[in-house]
Amino acid sequence: MWRVLRMSILLLILGIALYSNWYDRRSTTDWDKTLWIGIFPIDADGSAISSAYAAGLTPERIADIEQFLNREAKRYGVAIDRPVRVDLYPLVSEKPPPHDAAGNVLSTMWWSLKLRLYARRNSHPPGRAPPQVRIFVLYHDPAFNQSVPHSVGMQKGLVGVVNAFADDSMTRTNNVVIAHEILHTLGATDKYDLATLAPLYPDGYAEPEREPRFPQVLTEIMAGRYAVDAQDFEMPDSLTDVLVGKATAREIHWVTQQ
Ligand SMILES: [Zn+2]
Repeated sequence: MWRVLRMSILLLILGIALYSNWYDRRSTTDWDKTLWIGIFPIDADGSAISSAYAAGLTPERIADIEQFLNREAKRYGVAIDRPVRVDLYPLVSEKPPPHDAAGNVLSTMWWSLKLRLYARRNSHPPGRAPPQVRIFVLYHDPAFNQSVPHSVGMQKGLVGVVNAFADDSMTRTNNVVIAHEILHTLGATDKYDLATLAPLYPDGYAEPEREPRFPQVLTEIMAGRYAVDAQDFEMPDSLTDVLVGKATAREIHWVTQQ
């Protein structure tokens, strides 16, 4: 009797989780109404530089993310007027749970659950409705941290954590990383070799048919870098030089045909 009851409860929880993932995937990639994305700045290290940068962020400084996504959506024929809306939210003081990249399956599942609860707790400040996709951006002082932990975007839970730099000269490249993680939350996959960081041909190339093939000048957003030649890969300066490639457009349902 207890076994049956316990089993039924577990199956019910599993069913709810499967349904909510299916519903999130469907509702964020049907492109029949504006998808609402929120950017939540966080001071990552408590330094004067990071606190001032995170607190001083303005909608204008993240505006190119929405412009990029809407420009690319239109290029693929998404018909609505404003496919995505990217809003800046007030500073969040609680930091997201740290991710142990070397952890096992169970610790990753536990972290992902904690991250979903964190996102729920921190995504509706007083007087503001919560967005559908939540991106928490930790701004680090480049003087203390020349390299920052990996950023993540999860389709399950529609939440991303971006590690960025609190420096005016990095604002536009930070926004490239934010756009990349937003697209992960919509089901896009990485299109670079994880070991060498090389963009994968052809899906990770913005212009795979370009002749000669090198140098590429534009970047595919899920590759993150463009190939100057077969061995050298560079990051773009801003979203102006970035495209959504055909494979990514299929993954996020901007196009349905092969
Ligand atoms: Zn990625």
